[in-house]
Amino acid sequence: MKLSHEIVTLRTKHPFVIARGGSSEYRVVRVTLTAPDGATGWGEAAPSRYYGETADTVVNVLPLLAQKLDGTDGWSLEALEHGLARAIRFNGSARAAVSAALHDLMGKRLGVPVHKLWGLDPAAAPPSSFTVGIAPDEPTLRARVEEAAQYPVLKIKLGSTWDERIVRMVRELAPDKVLRVDANAAWTPKSALRMIPLLQELGVEFVEQPLPPDDLDGLRFVRERSALPIIADESCLVAADIPKLAGVVDGINIKLAKCGGLREALRMIATARAHDMLVMAGCMIESSLGITAAAAFSPQGRSAAIHGAAAGSQAT
Ligand SMILES: [Mg+2]
Repeated sequence: MKLSHEIVTLRTKHPFVIARGGSSEYRVVRVTLTAPDGATGWGEAAPSRYYGETADTVVNVLPLLAQKLDGTDGWSLEALEHGLARAIRFNGSARAAVSAALHDLMGKRLGVPVHKLWGLDPAAAPPSSFTVGIAPDEPTLRARVEEAAQYPVLKIKLGSTWDERIVRMVRELAPDKVLRVDANAAWTPKSALRMIPLLQELGVEFVEQPLPPDDLDGLRFVRERSALPIIADESCLVAADIPKLAGVVDGINIKLAKCGGLREALRMIATARAHDMLVMAGCMIESSLGITAAAAFSPQGRSAAIHGAAAGSQAT
């Protein structure tokens, strides 16, 4: 099994800014697996510095991952993904790229898309949301919301110096759209509880990651006082994180770059459902190749959406 790669720079139409900063350029790593029979599988790593990865760290660990595939025929996905996780503990996006390529390879060999291998109906996938990053001023925010006219669901990034004005403006500009907000860990319990009644009044559907990832007591405190569901993103990387979040938040955001592979994503869905939690799928800044791997399990999402799509739309 041969593993090759290419670094691709994605340029977003606008700087994509969230509570902890932003950029207009994002380097992803596209990988191609070539089996001895000539079949190929594709995947993409969308590394995030927040989780300790860059395109360079992805490229550095790919040889280690390739070693785990040496001499295999690529069919034993469960064992192979487990082997990748044992080879390197972190580096989730690098492992996810290889996992996606293995699944793509299997689908291509069998002549069916991955969602069909899993028995999923694409029509059951929830509608995706378009993310509106933190704008520097009101005219820019207005322009961004107007540009998103074709998207029925907006996810608004908060954790800025003007959060209240942002949500009020977006609601004025998009009176009929489903709105969600994501504070990317920037609030305190006090500021979250100050914002949530306003968000409820404006018809916001849920609040993603209001507090720092390790503040589970704070998240529980906020959730117990919140009329809106609270979703964990930065607090929830893999399935093993979920049991301790039961009763602390209402749902989780799954991202391949965090969990490290499609098998782990399926385990996260099963674990969250066992705890009666909402499941949404998110992404980093990635191309249509990266998000396609997540789209394969998106019909399993419950009451929330898969975020982003091609370069130019965004999540995190
Ligand atoms: Mg998020």
